[in-house]
Amino acid sequence: MKKMRVYEIARKLNTKSNVVIKKLNDMGINVKSNFSGVDAETAQKFIDEWNKSKKEVIKEVKAKKKEEKKTKKKEKEVSEEKKPKPLKYKQSKQKIFREDTLPQKFKKRKKYKKTKAETPQEEETKSIEFSKGMTVFEFAGKLGVDFSDILGKLFELGVMARKNDVIDEEAARIIAEEYGFEIEEKQEASKEAEELFDIEDNPEDLLERPPIVTVMGHVDHGKTSILDAIKSTNIAQREAGGITQHIAAYSVKIEGKYITFLDTPGHEAFTEMRARGAQITDIVVLVVAADDGVMPQTIEAINHAKAADVPIVVAINKIDKPNANPEKVKQELSNYGVVPEEWGGNNLFVNVSAKKRIGIDDLLEAILLQAEMMELKANPNKRAKGVVVEAKLDKNRGPVATVVVKEGTLKQGDAFIVGVQYGKVRAMVDDKGKKIKQVGPSFAAEILGLQGVPEPGDTLIVVSDEKKAKEIALKRQEELKQAILNQRSVSLENIFEQIEGGEVKELPVILKTDVFGSIEAIKNALIKLSTDEVTVKVIHAAVGAITKTDINLAKASNAVVIGFNVRPTQEALKLANDLKIDVRTYKVIYDIVDDVKKSLSGLLSPEEKEEILGRVEVRQTFKVPRVGVVAGCYVTYGKIARNAKVRVLRDGVIIHEGNIASLKRFKEDVSEVQQGYECGVGIEAFNDIKEGDVIEVYRIVKVEREL
Ligand code: GDP
Ligand code: MG
Repeated sequence: MKKMRVYEIARKLNTKSNVVIKKLNDMGINVKSNFSGVDAETAQKFIDEWNKSKKEVIKEVKAKKKEEKKTKKKEKEVSEEKKPKPLKYKQSKQKIFREDTLPQKFKKRKKYKKTKAETPQEEETKSIEFSKGMTVFEFAGKLGVDFSDILGKLFELGVMARKNDVIDEEAARIIAEEYGFEIEEKQEASKEAEELFDIEDNPEDLLERPPIVTVMGHVDHGKTSILDAIKSTNIAQREAGGITQHIAAYSVKIEGKYITFLDTPGHEAFTEMRARGAQITDIVVLVVAADDGVMPQTIEAINHAKAADVPIVVAINKIDKPNANPEKVKQELSNYGVVPEEWGGNNLFVNVSAKKRIGIDDLLEAILLQAEMMELKANPNKRAKGVVVEAKLDKNRGPVATVVVKEGTLKQGDAFIVGVQYGKVRAMVDDKGKKIKQVGPSFAAEILGLQGVPEPGDTLIVVSDEKKAKEIALKRQEELKQAILNQRSVSLENIFEQIEGGEVKELPVILKTDVFGSIEAIKNALIKLSTDEVTVKVIHAAVGAITKTDINLAKASNAVVIGFNVRPTQEALKLANDLKIDVRTYKVIYDIVDDVKKSLSGLLSPEEKEEILGRVEVRQTFKVPRVGVVAGCYVTYGKIARNAKVRVLRDGVIIHEGNIASLKRFKEDVSEVQQGYECGVGIEAFNDIKEGDVIEVYRIVKVEREL
């Protein structure tokens, strides 16, 4: 039977796949991804239901509005004073219009409103609730009008929008006004707690706090060994009796001062944290092996630290090795803008050997010196705010989170919200396994008493009581659902809009290529595209497949990802989909430059788009006389279709692009093979296929114009 895929249904309904997936799941139909199929009959039923319920929703909203109007009127008679709070549109970050570029129509309307205000009818103004991130469709629902009317009004204002685009606050206000409504801004729960917290500290209340350090560097250069060396040196200094246990962050004491280390070396944790908007690292310790020098992940670490604006202290490790060459490492790092202080640069360098425990104290001193320069301070005498660095569900203890306190002091009994979870501190354990009653700025503790497991990077904020915490957490859970539906990231297609709206002044790019040689050429060509309005900035460039770390960095930096002859890993592809990161891959440099150039002037509107159907892994290869090499494969994701296009990837690098010559299941020719099945694949004019290669299956689809 013919099947319809989730994304096809979503496209038909002009909505997003995840909405369709959720609705279908609610109806008991098991679908998982964009690619999941639904039989044609069920799909049609679903579409009909959707269209019907849409009309009902509009009707319902209209009825509700009427009801509200009535009660409002009554309320008004009782209390004349309670006026709806007008929208503070001047503060809106996401603007389509700036004051100086307002269309004539808007300027007139402002005057019009003033004169109207003098008439008694103004008292009758109705209000609607507006929340940031509302789509055109939702907004239309609030007004009780058809969304196409709103699209028309937006068009008159010079805004090309589609039904599911987020409506701009100012535009919404103008349009609402035309319908005789005033906009009332809905308080966002996520801000609520932060606002409660956002009380400026008096300078005299700010006290010195320890630096929080993340160790980064190339694999095998000695990150773990250095952390171990620091830990064990320090344990020796501690009084006996303390049981050391693993905790994701720990503090060491040197010369009466503390340093807190995050015990998850590597870039993923650092970037993932940043992607979630929580930057807790004050200083990066960059570990470079003296016998190996600057390697790809060294450069990646430098770029990540730079993107986050975090200073780097360099630990040149393994100086005990006979072929160690610290001077060469300094030289190499200088080429990447990490320059020793003695050469007039900004970076402290320390020679160490984690193995022989040489220079560890010097490294700690360098970190303290760097921290001193930064004058890190926090107010310990207030409600705490912290960041989750690790969280899990413990069989015996329930949800447990390791939190690094950023400001204030976290105390036993405190009620808090953390991400979309909440709780009350039942008990706290420090990095020595000791029960503690309170924890101050820059120190870590494991906390018990959570109602659910938060995520690393979530911010914890202490609130007045548990009831309040629960209320905010529930609101946030609702908001999160909405936000997922309305997510908006920078893409080459919307960058122009965002430049015009004054939202962005920079197009950050992450560049991955198959060979080093292409990096400089592409980088230079891209940088040259910068205009007065927008700077093109390559924030990270490296050789290799596009990975999850690249996607997280893109999310954290609002960047687009460009691959030259390389493709994303399957994990990265999925993450990019979830986070809505624009990932584009090319085979010709000219095409990269052309696309970016067009995007900056709003001219990029592809008529064709690539659609990934699936991925297939090569498990075996066979030589077939007169046919060539055939690959015995397994479909790991989506499906493979006989008439689709394919590219062969080896370690994420594209080694061939072309068509399928044959697709078989057992001995039978078939038109497609689904995820979880084996198949035999022959590729036209390509015999170099090897075990471990990945065949990516895609097709080119025409982009239908919406609107
Ligand atoms: P990571 O991948 O960066 O965490 O590196 P590890 O800490 O796991 O170290 C990788 C390897 O280098 C291990 O075999 C260590 O024993 C070795 N190693 C680490 N530090 C030193 C050092 O100072 N000198 C020598 N000779 N070997 C070291
Ligand atoms: Mg390690």
